[in-house]
Amino acid sequence: MTDPINRQTFDEVMVPNYSPLPVIPVRGQGSRVWDQANKEYIDFAGGIAVNALGHCHPRLLLALLEQSQRLWHLSNVWTNEPAIKLAQQLCEKTFAERVYFANSGAEANEAAFKLARKHAFTNFGPEKHEIISCLNGFHGRTLFTVSVGGQAKYCEGFEPVPKGITHIPFNDCKALADAISDCTCAVVIEPIQGEGGIQPASGEFLQAARELCDQHNALLIFDEIQTGVGRTGKLYAYQNSSIVPDIMTTAKALGGGFPIGAMLCRKEIAESFNVGSHGSTYGGNPLGCAIANEVLTLVDTPEVLDGVREKGQQFNQLLEQANQKYPLFRDFRGMGLLIGCELKPDYHGKARQFIQIAEEEGLMLLVAGLNVVRLAPSLIIPNKDIDEGMQRFSRAMDRFLLEI
Ligand SMILES: *Cc1c(COP(=O)(O)O)cnc(C)c1O
Repeated sequence: MTDPINRQTFDEVMVPNYSPLPVIPVRGQGSRVWDQANKEYIDFAGGIAVNALGHCHPRLLLALLEQSQRLWHLSNVWTNEPAIKLAQQLCEKTFAERVYFANSGAEANEAAFKLARKHAFTNFGPEKHEIISCLNGFHGRTLFTVSVGGQAKYCEGFEPVPKGITHIPFNDCKALADAISDCTCAVVIEPIQGEGGIQPASGEFLQAARELCDQHNALLIFDEIQTGVGRTGKLYAYQNSSIVPDIMTTAKALGGGFPIGAMLCRKEIAESFNVGSHGSTYGGNPLGCAIANEVLTLVDTPEVLDGVREKGQQFNQLLEQANQKYPLFRDFRGMGLLIGCELKPDYHGKARQFIQIAEEEGLMLLVAGLNVVRLAPSLIIPNKDIDEGMQRFSRAMDRFLLEI
């Protein structure tokens, strides 16, 4: 019997806001994935920095199974043990003292932006409501989060959008100093812009943001939805520097593939939300929290975090080597296992074509914009999968130069 569902079926039943690649994966194990025809792929995409422990990690399967036999959902009319334990773990492992749970990154950011406004409103008054964020930044797809995000095209056609948001060029300390005022309630930064092309924030920019926020009683919000949960070799990217935010959001890898997000902050800021200020039906459900507890426990070990740095170096070496033979990229950037490969100007606009060829060669990759090929593999990808995947990557480079 042949499977009646294929890529064509997608176009017949789905809202056309995505354009998925031609094959349909059906099964994964570690950093390998198989499609409907049982063709094997090496996964350098990691579900967009979500599958931090690969596919079907035995300990996550066990956490899912155990919790699924106890209690899936209650709503926030009751609390539950996994949620409290997860909040405890997040507070122990970060600057945070209080946690709010959501189901996605956008929802975690929505909570962060609303809390920043409420905090300023409560402590200073309604004029202090302006949010400063960065051009090319990405914070999610709800109306508030696309408005704070720095790509005008994601707002087009959805106007009117929320007011009181100013965008400055990323890493531009002077622009930030010029834009900030006592009407600013928050400055929002990704420590490494992910969707914006894997652009790391400079130390000076983070430092300037911290100082300017302090001068103007504004909150510094780090969106660590892509950079968090071990991706850079620290549990959170801010821990690579001495700059500590007031609010931080985390999602993607937090559930290792189970949808969950969280907003973290200090106690004094949390207190601006009171009973009824904000909420979510599923947020903090026992099933998601049980899995996230296991993800954090497994990721936050010296073996995994040191491994991220080592594997990141292994990737960089192999990428540089391949690029000497097949000169396709002008720059490799990022940190740990969040790697951006920017195409040379001659090939700009063709990142998607590259990942399509790679897929044919049995390799799953991502783009970040039109010019950057992005890698965000499992944090525990076996070294031999890196080697074999990079052989496929080189073959894709060879073919790209011949065919494109
Ligand atoms: C993916 C991402 C989001 C949005 O998360 P969703 O779970 O898709 O809502 C927000 N911010 C950053 C930095 C992201 O990478």
